[in-house]
Amino acid sequence: MIRAALARFNLAALTHNLRRVRTYAPHAKLLCVVKADAYGHGASKIARALNELTDGFAVAMAHEARVLREHGVTAPILVMGGFLSSEELAFLAYADATLTVHQPYHVTLLKETQLTKPVNTWIKVDTGMHRLGIPYTQLRDIIEALRSIPHVRVTGIMTHFACADEVNHTLTAQQIQRFDQITFGLDLPQSLSNSAAIITLPHAQRDWVRPGIMLYGISPFMDRRAAELDLKPVMTLTSQLIAVNSVRAGETIGYGAAWTCTNDTRVGVVGLGYGDGYPRHAPSGTPVLIGGRRVPLIGRVSMDAICVDLHAAPEANPGDTVTLWGEGLPIEEIASAAGTIGYELTCKITSRVKREYI
Ligand SMILES: *Cc1c(COP(=O)(O)O)cnc(C)c1O
Repeated sequence: MIRAALARFNLAALTHNLRRVRTYAPHAKLLCVVKADAYGHGASKIARALNELTDGFAVAMAHEARVLREHGVTAPILVMGGFLSSEELAFLAYADATLTVHQPYHVTLLKETQLTKPVNTWIKVDTGMHRLGIPYTQLRDIIEALRSIPHVRVTGIMTHFACADEVNHTLTAQQIQRFDQITFGLDLPQSLSNSAAIITLPHAQRDWVRPGIMLYGISPFMDRRAAELDLKPVMTLTSQLIAVNSVRAGETIGYGAAWTCTNDTRVGVVGLGYGDGYPRHAPSGTPVLIGGRRVPLIGRVSMDAICVDLHAAPEANPGDTVTLWGEGLPIEEIASAAGTIGYELTCKITSRVKREYI
């Protein structure tokens, strides 16, 4: 076994999903969110595939912008997490990134740093999430302060929803109301919506939308699958059966003897575990796909292996392909079994997993 675990990335599905975003938000420009290595999909590959199709990219930090520029990405890049020093600010200006100001210290750094060319700056306002953002009541003061600094151009205003994935949450309405109140009469491009908001809040689409998870073909909602939204999974995670064992009724499987076979059981051992990024908390019963059949995981997930009950796939043999999620097996299902979200699963794929782009 050289490397059994394989993540395949379907770039046709990616561009399909981007077209879906355009259908949902026909009048908005797109900032495709490729932070965290494009949610584990490989930021340079994903961004290059989207470079000609998007209006820009958004990342969380300067390092991520650097990776994109080093791989020839020419589209605008918004760095949403701000900057911590003059050096970082100078780097962002050099990389032609769009800055985000979300703290008063950003204004100070902009004042203190000798910039040699104009930098585009977005202001992130906090309208109720209370994570990153200038308190919305201070927006006008911040704009004024920024406009007095040479080389600083304010080119956008954004906010982020705390509960856009829950339909009709009262906080979302309150956030939009606060945003509209404070931006009234301001002639600056606006951006409010992540994937969930793009789908459920057409009136919040405005000038720029910031799709992330939906680009990767994963539903932003707990109770709706990607297929219902006509989104196609980009990542399919597979591995192979590396052993098939006959285990007697009454014997136990794996660490902690956490599963007991109630019948004589053919047990398949899949060459992948939490060392590859499969969630350790996936419980017995979590499905995997072998030869088009769903079979349940049994016992604990270990670092290099998981065990499955082959009752429903009696003809399975060592070497057979096993799908953990992706085409044929919605990642949302695995995420909810493991008590997490698709975002976390794709982000956690480790470097041991071989990657292929098709
Ligand atoms: C991550 C992020 C997004 C994208 O969110 P999705 O739910 O993946 O669409 C948008 N805006 C901000 C500020 C983010 O941090």
